[in-house]
Amino acid sequence: MKQNGSSTIKFFSGEQIPVELHKVRIVQKLFLKPIDERLAAINKGGFNTFLLNTKDVFLDMLTDSGTNAMSDNQLASMMQADDAYAGSQSFYRMEKAIQDVFGKEFVLPVHQGRAAENIISKAFIKEGDVIPMNYHFTTTKAHMEMNGGKIFEIYTDEALKIKSSHPFKGNLDVKKLVALIKEYGKEHIPFIRLEASTNLIGGQPFSIQNMREVKKVADEYGILILLDASLIGENAYFISQREEEFKNTSILDILRTMCGLCDLVYFSSRKVSSTRGGGICTNSRELYLKMRDLVPLFEGFLTYGGMSVREIEAMAVGLYETTDETVISQSPSFIKYIVDNLDKNGIPVITPAGGLGCHIDAMGFLPHVKQEEYPAGALAAALYIISGCRGMERGTISSVRDKDGKDILADMELLRLAFPRRVFTLSQTLFLIDRIKWLYQNRDLVGGLTFVEEPAVLRFFMGRLKPVSNWTEILVKKFKEDFGDSL
Ligand SMILES: *Cc1c(COP(=O)(O)O)cnc(C)c1O
Repeated sequence: MKQNGSSTIKFFSGEQIPVELHKVRIVQKLFLKPIDERLAAINKGGFNTFLLNTKDVFLDMLTDSGTNAMSDNQLASMMQADDAYAGSQSFYRMEKAIQDVFGKEFVLPVHQGRAAENIISKAFIKEGDVIPMNYHFTTTKAHMEMNGGKIFEIYTDEALKIKSSHPFKGNLDVKKLVALIKEYGKEHIPFIRLEASTNLIGGQPFSIQNMREVKKVADEYGILILLDASLIGENAYFISQREEEFKNTSILDILRTMCGLCDLVYFSSRKVSSTRGGGICTNSRELYLKMRDLVPLFEGFLTYGGMSVREIEAMAVGLYETTDETVISQSPSFIKYIVDNLDKNGIPVITPAGGLGCHIDAMGFLPHVKQEEYPAGALAAALYIISGCRGMERGTISSVRDKDGKDILADMELLRLAFPRRVFTLSQTLFLIDRIKWLYQNRDLVGGLTFVEEPAVLRFFMGRLKPVSNWTEILVKKFKEDFGDSL
């Protein structure tokens, strides 16, 4: 049965407001520096928000990875950590948490999500294999391709629409799946990968109905299903909100139902349980044995997998907390509030609100900046300059060049503003909304960017850019006219 409730609460005015259902007991001072210092900081950081120092950042919305707030119980659990190379009691507590929450018996610990992807890819993918999935994630794609696999994204027509009211844009297109299996043959498909709360298309969930349809096909052809459960809590929350059959089902039962439809489950604890680390789990001893010996080779012994015992303890507690609706609804409630507010004001954002952050459509926001001049990167830099808030570019800068050195233009140009769990308050959210509205009114002042230093791989992390004109100075001048000395 359902317990607790969502942290969005109906006010007397009729408005639905996200309320922080926790109290703040440890705080960290933030700095909102004057705009000239912010301009200097982004210049120094090569107009790449990854290269900013957090002392220059007010609201850090780069990512939810490893930045969720920990609970008192998580911190307390770290004190009982059992330091041991082998057989640590901390590991057994984590193993039990995974068994209880995901309903999977065999557990392998790894140091973070991409480490699970490395082990799974090495164990199951052969040269020339094909992996169907609802959408890729950057590290997933890199590991699978490095092991000789080719990935196919078989999302539905709804997935890449910016404005949509479809509740499950993360669904996998089952017709395309059948066609792909017929074309390549089941022997070349080691598994079908489903990613919960599809990260790169805006934290969009799939339904259990869709999972059941995928499973029906998978069973028919004898193909495994792999679940990337890094963002499973939010996906489960959306199922409880949006899928009729599960309206009165607890988050725990939804999580177990989701995992029960998959053969192999892996996750990044940096997301799912507000700590570090990760894991792989399955109910098949045979599948477990295929991966087991790779863990000591790449990660560490089977009872720590590259994590500290303290992290393992906090991960166990964090997994149980993910089953609490008031905890898991925190981020989605705040994200819905900001997305609905911006949408109402005509600012182009991905709808419906997803589980990871607010995603602004930079091509809609800056239609005058061509994709070759990186609208999402330019918007990220502009928002930082005028607000001190940093988001992440998810567009062509995060893509690659083709053989001739031309940019492969991304499907979407997004500025992602991540909402880590239980970190930001409503007044901070209101500040962000206000500054985005101002920027939208002054959007004509924002220009594009061009690379000055471009790494050959994963260029979005370390690449350095510069504005194509003096637009940043003009933007700062206008800001000062409107806000005076105010930050
Ligand atoms: C973050 C993430 C990963 C990778 O996890 P890390 O812990 O950052 O290595 C994999 N899949 C998804 C969906 C993610 O969001």
